[in-house]
Amino acid sequence: MMQLSRRSFALGLGAAGIAVSAGAKPKPKVVAPAMLDTIVIGAGMSGLNTALLLEAEGQKVALLEGRSRVGGRVHTLFDQPGTPEMGFNTMGEGYGRGIDAAQRAGVELIEVGARFRKAPPQAFFLNGRNFTRETWTAFEGNPLPAPLKAMMPWEVVPRLVAQHTPLADWTQWHLPESAVHDISLHAFLKQHGLSDAAIRLVNDTAPAYGNSAWDVSALMLQWNDGFVKGQIAAGTRQLAVKGGNANLPIGMAKLLKGDLITGKRVVGVDSGDAHATVYCADGSTMQRAVWFVRCRWA
Ligand SMILES: Cc1cc2nc3c(=O)[nH]c(=O)nc-3n(C[C@H](O)[C@H](O)[C@H](O)COP(=O)(O)OP(=O)(O)OC[C@H]3O[C@@H](n4cnc5c(N)ncnc54)[C@H](O)[C@@H]3O)c2cc1C
Repeated sequence: MMQLSRRSFALGLGAAGIAVSAGAKPKPKVVAPAMLDTIVIGAGMSGLNTALLLEAEGQKVALLEGRSRVGGRVHTLFDQPGTPEMGFNTMGEGYGRGIDAAQRAGVELIEVGARFRKAPPQAFFLNGRNFTRETWTAFEGNPLPAPLKAMMPWEVVPRLVAQHTPLADWTQWHLPESAVHDISLHAFLKQHGLSDAAIRLVNDTAPAYGNSAWDVSALMLQWNDGFVKGQIAAGTRQLAVKGGNANLPIGMAKLLKGDLITGKRVVGVDSGDAHATVYCADGSTMQRAVWFVRCRWA
């Protein structure tokens, strides 16, 4: 959440949303001046939680979401057999805030660890070929340095981060002496002998954080390594939402008292001393607490 002024005008900015579908004329919404304290942008888990926390403090909040659905990277394909998860998969027993959010939203968490334990050995496709760990290790086109060749691509970053973390206490990542470790993941992987092709394979084809190894801090991943170990120490159960994880953000959205407007992709924010203006892709703007609809969709 980004605080824009002392007037409680805050924006929760997340990753880039998708464009409002062409031709869909959004319904202009008029909110009475001084009725809103905060506008939150993005109805992913962080935006929803931000809005709920602010409402719990008595604020009048509006939540703008660029997509036509809530949840962001918590995305269940409810219309597909088996309702596969496209994003967030499970939370550990130590996910206090996630578990609390589930309780508040009235969704049930179930243990799904068995689906990992019973899963067949992992395999992957690369350039039209199917690799098992054995065939990958022996493959002459495997770009990983010799000590890492037996690792599946997605195992490399967590393993190197865990092996080489300089943090004796991960909760102290913010101390000034840690700043020297705040380098890009790309630089970190280079230090450990990975080529550009190897970095593309182990991280950039499916980045868990950011968009590529260039825009993720190695220090952040070292913090995350400690955090995850703390999660595992709290208990080994793997929890997911009954019926599909997207039921959690949907349940959270139902708790909101204020407006949640989907299809409102924010394309700009102007903040001055007196007010802030939010510009949406559909041509509407929201200034401080008032919608000024300019009807630019032609
Ligand atoms: C494949 C995958 C697997 C994962 N597995 C796990 C897991 O097992 N366990 C776990 O804990 N975490 C997991 N995660 C991570 C977890 O899903 C995310 O950390 C979390 O959902 C992020 O929530 P967020 O609200 O911060 O961001 P997002 O979910 O990205 O939400 C941002 C929202 O803001 C909207 N938005 C962005 N820009 C604009 C704009 N300009 N105007 C309007 N709206 C905008 C977006 O449309 C989106 O809805 C996984 C992620 C992925 C991708």
